Amino acid sequence: MSVDIECVVVGAGVVGLAIAREMAQAGHEVLLIEAGEAIGIGTSSRNSEVIHAGIYYPPGSLKAQLCVEGRHQLYDYCQSHGVATQRLGKLIVAKDPAQMTGLATLLERGLMNGVDDLRLLDQRQALDLEPALSCVGALYSPSTGIVDSHALMLALQGDAEAAGASVAFHTPLLKARVTVDGFVLELGGTAQMSLSCQRLINAAGLHAPALARRIEGLAPQSVPREYLCKGNYFSLTGRAPFRHLVYPAPQAAGLGIHMTLDLGGQARFGPDVEWVEHEDYLVEPARAEAFYPAIRDYWPGLPDQSLQPGYSGIRPKISAPGEPACDFLISSQAEHQVPGLINLFGIESPGLTSCLAIAGRVRQLIESV
Ligand SMILES: Cc1cc2nc3c(=O)[nH]c(=O)nc-3n(C[C@H](O)[C@H](O)[C@H](O)COP(=O)(O)OP(=O)(O)OC[C@H]3O[C@@H](n4cnc5c(N)ncnc54)[C@H](O)[C@@H]3O)c2cc1C
Repeated sequence: MSVDIECVVVGAGVVGLAIAREMAQAGHEVLLIEAGEAIGIGTSSRNSEVIHAGIYYPPGSLKAQLCVEGRHQLYDYCQSHGVATQRLGKLIVAKDPAQMTGLATLLERGLMNGVDDLRLLDQRQALDLEPALSCVGALYSPSTGIVDSHALMLALQGDAEAAGASVAFHTPLLKARVTVDGFVLELGGTAQMSLSCQRLINAAGLHAPALARRIEGLAPQSVPREYLCKGNYFSLTGRAPFRHLVYPAPQAAGLGIHMTLDLGGQARFGPDVEWVEHEDYLVEPARAEAFYPAIRDYWPGLPDQSLQPGYSGIRPKISAPGEPACDFLISSQAEHQVPGLINLFGIESPGLTSCLAIAGRVRQLIESV
């Protein structure tokens, strides 16, 4: 049997869901297909659930633009849809004067990105906010917060379906072929059928590059190589030492082992950086050994034996270990010359914060041709 649909979105993570909602609300006929049994089974449920302010990213980059725009949209969306958020605020702490200079540079960068509420704090001001900290000063970001990512995804799914989108689970896209007027898709799982569509949006997260390589008619050089960068979390037994989110000065491949809180007030530390070859979410208890000294840099009161293996997530990197982080790559006809195709590559952090802005950008790209 062959069915014809206007727009197929692949992957029901937070990004695919936001795109399905955006496209359906704009009047497009949308089918969202997901390989797994439910929404949010990939990276979207394996992250810090932080609504980032938009401080770290190079000015003018998609990450900077879509994070700042997406953060405003996300707070408004969550408020209007009853999705829990807490604007806890965040402290990025310096352990020596050189790092303090780095934080001043970060403040400048934040300002260039449109984050206009950052403040540098001296030691006294930082300790007034968080007495358990050890630091010489901090950069304070009041608009950083946390979100219930599952409630967010459910709300996005609800909106998408209310606007007419259909969601099919257990339906992996196996491969696709570019045709004169769109695509022919081969679906596996419970569907086991082929389908034609005019627009194809690949939001398959970690699997987006591999899936793009299975699109016959798409030039292989338009698909970047993927690298898997695992981040492990450890949870803290006992009461959280801080009320704000606390981050060390940024590091090479991640933001450093930081402390975030969940909506129940429970503290967790991570994610660290572990480059892996395969998808594997086991948290090795021995990795805690590196966490204790890293955390004690800013919280000397961390008790021995207080960290328990938590969970892990994998960053869908398109930059190799040691290379600078790449920007989000929203690859459209302008890059790959295939009308109606959008591939989303390297949607690592701040992808959760940016999901609504990414969706808006995808719709613009689709509708501009
Ligand atoms: C450790 C870590 C911490 C992070 N912390 C934050 C944070 O605090 N704040 C923030 O803003 N961002 C954060 N991020 C980034 C954020 O989690 C991601 O950017 C976001 O979740 C990506 O969503 P996605 O929908 O693109 O991918 P995913 O959630 O991975 O969804 C992709 C979906 O596609 C499906 N799929 C794959 N292949 C196929 C196929 N062939 N056919 C059908 N379906 C398919 C998968 O099953 C999956 O459900 C973090 C990421 C990591 C790894």
